[in-house]
Amino acid sequence: MEKLIITVGITGSRITRQQTPYIPILPEEIAQSGIEAWRAGASVLHIHVRDPKTGLGAQDYSIFKEVVDRIRSETDAILCLTTSGIPGRNLEFRERLVPLSLNPELVSFDAGSINMRENVFLNPPEFLELLAQETLAKGIKPELEVFEVGMVETCIRYLEKGLLKPPLHFQFVLGVVGGMSATAKSLLHLSEIIPPDSTWSVIGIGPGQLPMAMIAMTMGGHVRVGLEDNIFYSRGVLAKTNAELVERIVRISKEFGREVATPDEARKILSLTPL
Ligand code: ZN
Repeated sequence: MEKLIITVGITGSRITRQQTPYIPILPEEIAQSGIEAWRAGASVLHIHVRDPKTGLGAQDYSIFKEVVDRIRSETDAILCLTTSGIPGRNLEFRERLVPLSLNPELVSFDAGSINMRENVFLNPPEFLELLAQETLAKGIKPELEVFEVGMVETCIRYLEKGLLKPPLHFQFVLGVVGGMSATAKSLLHLSEIIPPDSTWSVIGIGPGQLPMAMIAMTMGGHVRVGLEDNIFYSRGVLAKTNAELVERIVRISKEFGREVATPDEARKILSLTPL
């Protein structure tokens, strides 16, 4: 089986300090948490940034740059910067594209709109087409975040139109309220309908994180863990760091006999343009 790519969602834009005191907020905290997760075995760091004053999600170039510079100076990790904007605020499309100017190897590409709890997560066709064109122009690979089945079909349509370049890389997001549930059946179905030369990884939200990771590991898929998606280590016990969530996947993977990919090995698996 192909080596396992572990991605870590470091902070996201939703989790607050009221929910967990361990969520990284300041640029140096986000960078440090990413560096620790890379040391623990993560080869891809998925990054959002926060406004240091409010602690909420931000989309400022200077904050992204500070985090990215810190991580790049200490690691060879693959960076996957978010383009998802900020929940509840419909940012200008261009504002959501700000992280592309830092030339990450991956950016998130949320392949459609969806109701998520009280918010509508808007990813209209004009935005997706603009994002796809920008990634093509800059040689950045989109990580196709899929919350439900129709989003795979959207990606295949964009592939046929030449807006996405093969091989595609999917990140299935399972267990979001409003999206597909975190079950083996969801994962099996999604993994069967993507183009055969694609790679895929899974995010199980909340209590779905560990079960989805273990199923993906045995199916030959890849795994994302991290505080963005799940703040608990076990039932009622908060995770203190992203690194400990990564370490657990590394341990399970070793026991299972599937080696963990280094960032360079992950670059090869994902067919990324070398830096
Ligand atoms: Zn994210």
